Amino acid sequence: MTTDESFPTTTDAGIPVASDEKSLSVGPDGPLLLQDHYLIEQMAMFNRERIPERQPHAKGGGAFGTFEVTHDVSAYTRAAVFQPGTKTEMLARFSTVAGERGSPDTWRDPRGFSLKFYTSDGNFDLVGNNTPVFFMRDPMKFQHFIRSQKRRSANNLRDHDMQWDFWTLSPESAHQVTWLMGDRGIPRSWRHMNGYSSHTYMWINADGGRCWVKYHFKTDQGVECFTQDEADQMASVDTDYHQRDLYEHIEAGQFPSWTLHMQIMPFEDAKSYRFNPFDLTKVWPHSDYPLQEVGRMTLNRNVTDYHTQIEQAAFEPNNLVAGTGLSPDKMLLARGFSYSDAHRARLGVNYRQIPVNQPIVPVHSYSKDGHMRIQNVADPVYAPNSYGGPTADPARTDDGGLWYADGEMVRSAYTLRTDDDDWGQAGTMVREVLDDAARDRLVDNIVGHLLNGVTEPVLNRAFAYWRNVDQDLGDHVESGVRAKQNDMDPKADAQGNPARAAMQAKA
Ligand code: NDP
Repeated sequence: MTTDESFPTTTDAGIPVASDEKSLSVGPDGPLLLQDHYLIEQMAMFNRERIPERQPHAKGGGAFGTFEVTHDVSAYTRAAVFQPGTKTEMLARFSTVAGERGSPDTWRDPRGFSLKFYTSDGNFDLVGNNTPVFFMRDPMKFQHFIRSQKRRSANNLRDHDMQWDFWTLSPESAHQVTWLMGDRGIPRSWRHMNGYSSHTYMWINADGGRCWVKYHFKTDQGVECFTQDEADQMASVDTDYHQRDLYEHIEAGQFPSWTLHMQIMPFEDAKSYRFNPFDLTKVWPHSDYPLQEVGRMTLNRNVTDYHTQIEQAAFEPNNLVAGTGLSPDKMLLARGFSYSDAHRARLGVNYRQIPVNQPIVPVHSYSKDGHMRIQNVADPVYAPNSYGGPTADPARTDDGGLWYADGEMVRSAYTLRTDDDDWGQAGTMVREVLDDAARDRLVDNIVGHLLNGVTEPVLNRAFAYWRNVDQDLGDHVESGVRAKQNDMDPKADAQGNPARAAMQAKA
């Protein structure tokens, strides 16, 4: 054992401790003593190490990096972070959605793609996914959706019947479920996936001109995916494969990068576009709104303390800087509340004082006190005041983007337009984007998923669901499921599990 006298162990109060290995007892064989403060501190701190995991997006990892603007988009936005040549320090966190903190990185699931830019206008966050669309368009359904993807109440098991029950009763999910069941439903690594804002946002230029935008971070490593078999094998070899891959590449100096492209829609187009451009279940076809290159994000610095820099990182779509704004996407508007509320619940009301969440610019807010506040608050503590407190300056903000709306208060879907339907874009993807081999893999993935515990009437609804996306696809899914449906445990063969195979033979 080595001892470095210049570097002694201390208590959390900085007091050198007597031993790292022996507790204080009455004689070597006697009882322990309450005054062994260091032993008690060790036990108490250990018992409190875990904080509630995120609900959802619990399993994830990330790194710090730099975002550099390479193309001039100042005609569309005055945001400092998007001005030509600007370099901004940033943080990225990638995650699965449904799995818990210890779950495998390679389960089939969308991946979170959250970014925090430490800009000269304050923090700017984008909380996206590796898919350009989402399962629903109304936030009232989000909580139900996540519960259906997680665990049952009775037995604490994940349950595909529950997942497909929800999906088949929610036709607007078809585009995203097609994505999820396709090749890109399991990225080879976080470095090999694209990131999308998915939502439509607003950009505002220096003259107050507004436009609607979607962010596309395209991986410079190229899109690569795992097949279901490869992912299953990796889940048993290394549950943390994606996290390890990112960490090791950055440690080795092989910094992953993504090129940011924007789709930009003139403000007035939104009123008459052939479908509602704020519907989160739809993409804007590239032929209508081509990608325009903006800049590059490079991840080049690993975190040094996962808990304080990733587990406590708090991304929130309401962190919007001047030149950027929200849109009438109902999901986005609800996320503006739900993310900051989740952080208050998990991390405490003063979570923005945790260093990873602090902006690089000074904070002059009127927030005060609260659990775990560590920054001093100066008088005056109210506004307006005549004692030199901060004063709001409307010229420095676009107030999160503003638009005009009126109408009766209703609980209703968006007003339908010519091309507003739930199946069309999913069908386009199946017929026009995928090739034959990718379509075969899509059928296999859906069949495998359905055979994993999905029962009538949900099963029949699933066949109809896929026929609505594409008749041929639905037919293949049904015949694939029917061929194996009566196997007692269709997974046993695939697993080569002799015990299950024996059970099956007996039955
Ligand atoms: P385009 O023909 O212009 O582009 C097709 C898009 O599909 C490309 O972005 C491509 O990504 C992506 N893609 C390729 N293979 C897959 C896959 N297995 N899973 C998911 N995406 C894949 O298409 P449109 O813009 O006219 O849209 C057609 C369909 O493409 C949409 O209905 C949508 O499902 C899908 N799509 C559209 C996107 C958009 O923002 N318009 C974005 C992503 C998908 P890459 O170029 O990186 O290979």
